[in-house]
Amino acid sequence: MSLRHESGIDLAALELDAVLIAGVENVRYLSGFTGSNGMLLLRREGNPIFFTDPRYTIQAAQEVLPRTRVIPRGALITGVASEIKRSRARRIGFEKSHISFDLYGQLKQLLDTRCELTPLPDLVARQRMIKDERELAAIRESVLINSQAFERGLKKIRPGISESELAGEIEYQMRRLGAEKPAFETIVACGARTALPHARPTRQKLTANQLILIDMGTFRDGYASDMTRTLHLGAPPAKIRRMYQAVLESQLAGIDAVRPGVTAGKVDRVVRGVLKKHGLDRYFMHSTGHGLGLEIHESPRLGKGDRTVLEAGMAVTIEPGVYIEGAGGIRIEDTVVVTQSGCEVLTPTTKELIAI
Ligand code: ZN
Ligand code: ZN
Repeated sequence: MSLRHESGIDLAALELDAVLIAGVENVRYLSGFTGSNGMLLLRREGNPIFFTDPRYTIQAAQEVLPRTRVIPRGALITGVASEIKRSRARRIGFEKSHISFDLYGQLKQLLDTRCELTPLPDLVARQRMIKDERELAAIRESVLINSQAFERGLKKIRPGISESELAGEIEYQMRRLGAEKPAFETIVACGARTALPHARPTRQKLTANQLILIDMGTFRDGYASDMTRTLHLGAPPAKIRRMYQAVLESQLAGIDAVRPGVTAGKVDRVVRGVLKKHGLDRYFMHSTGHGLGLEIHESPRLGKGDRTVLEAGMAVTIEPGVYIEGAGGIRIEDTVVVTQSGCEVLTPTTKELIAI
């Protein structure tokens, strides 16, 4: 094998001589390169060729699996164009979501006029949905580190600490526990701000008798984890407890629905159905979950009407939420892996409503 992972791209079926992979995570997935500037040319005839710039000469020699490496002095795209010319490839596919209009223009200008450039959807994304054992091991570790960082973060929760400070504490603990970095900007929201599903931590201070929503994830060996927990500072009132139980019930029903052969849309429908029963479905305005791996959000999307059929080896989140303006929001999110018979919840953190 000349790549770290199969690309899943059938060049013959696509009637292409070569495909240019430019998405940084796709390049990493296929070649093992962890740098920020690399491209990969998959060829119908001949081995794949990897391109990077001189800053990455040593790193590429250590990491990259296609042995053919091209390190042009100028822009990467000039090296790519030369190799395309050299291999006499005429029909070239490229990832349309990863090549900018500007780069496309440069490539077109550098290539022979007889060359045909064909925009393609992200074909590697399909392959990346199914994780192998090594990838699942990294996701498991990522999830465990994330949950441990959450536990440590809990100890810092008290009236007077700001959302931003708490987010900083959590992210510091992630790194101390062995994560490379947060998988996204940690969300810490308190009080009425919990009704903002993607709240940014502010200088607002936590006060007694309010909801706190924490959504956090880490990267470990390049792989993401994702978890949301909603807590209450002080004893939660009955209304909050009822709302929490409804979200938990829908989240558990979602987890129960995850198994091979079921569509992503079906899982979303189950989750929404439970919230509807509690009269809360209109307060749930995002999708039920998403795949995760080298990116925090990747295929499949567990949303309304999504027809992707779940398969063993997919790592996805289940994260229903209810957001009521003025009152607050509750979300519960776990990372799960689809198994042969159902799914395994990787997140070990309790889902009982935590009162601090
Ligand atoms: Zn999340
Ligand atoms: Zn998520």
